Amino acid sequence: MSQTRRPMIAGNWKMNGLKADGTALASDLAKLLNGETDPVFEMVVCPPFTLIAGIAEAITGSAIGLGAQDCHAADKGAHTGDISAPMLADLGCKYVLAGHSERRTNHGESDADVKAKAEAILASDLSAIICIGETEAERDGGKTMDVVKTQLSGSLPKSATAANSVIAYEPVWAIGTGRTPSDDEVQEVHALIRAELAKALGEDEAAGVRLLYGGSMNPGNASNLLALADVDGGLIGGASLKSEDFWAIAQSCDT
Ligand code: PEP
Repeated sequence: MSQTRRPMIAGNWKMNGLKADGTALASDLAKLLNGETDPVFEMVVCPPFTLIAGIAEAITGSAIGLGAQDCHAADKGAHTGDISAPMLADLGCKYVLAGHSERRTNHGESDADVKAKAEAILASDLSAIICIGETEAERDGGKTMDVVKTQLSGSLPKSATAANSVIAYEPVWAIGTGRTPSDDEVQEVHALIRAELAKALGEDEAAGVRLLYGGSMNPGNASNLLALADVDGGLIGGASLKSEDFWAIAQSCDT
C-alpha cells in the first residue's frame, strides 16, 4: 500500500439481500465507523439495484460511499430491465463497477462493452471501478499478463483519470473459491497494470490510480495483500456480506 493513494475497501454484494438484510448490514457498518468522517480507508458498498435507495438512506451522514454493480452504456431508452448511469447518480451512487467477470461470463460482456459502460459512468460524473482478470485456463496457459494487458487497454476509457477510475484485478479462479494468487503474483500483476496505465495516461496520473485486488479476500489474508506496494485496497464479495469481516478487512489498512 502506498502512503499517497487512499485505500479503498469496496463490497460487492452481488445478488444478495432483501431490504431488511441490506439495511441491517449497512447500518452495522455505519455504526462501526462510529461517526468517523475521514477514515484512513474509503469504504464503498455496492448493493443490488433494488436496495440502493434504502441503503442511501441507511448510510446518510456516514463516510460510506455508495456504488452499483453495473449499468447500461446508454443514458435512457428502449432497454427493458436495464439501469443507466444517470439513474444511479440520481440515487446517490458515487461508483459503478464495470466488467465484473460475472458480467463478462454470464452476459457476454466484451472489453468494448465494458469501455462503453465506463464511458457512460464517467460522463455521469461517477467513478468507474473497472474489473479485469484471467481465468484459470489462461493462468495455467501462461497468459495472465497478456490477458490483463488486453482487457485493460480494451476496457479503459480515454477520459480515465486517477480521480475518476479505479482498476480491480480479480483473477476469475480466485472469486468465491477461497483460493488466491501468492502475494508476489498479485504484486507482479498490479505492477504490470500500473506500467500499462502509465503508457495510457502518463506516469503521474498512473501513479495516482488505485488498484484493488479482488478474489477471496478475507480477514485472514487482507493484511498481507493490502501491504503490497501496488495494492490500494480490495474488492470484496463474500466477506462483504458480514459486517464484522468487512470491517476487519478495512481495519487491515491501518496496519
Ligand atoms: C467479487 O466477486 O468481486 C469477489 C471478489 O468475490 P469474493 O470476494 O467472494 O471472491
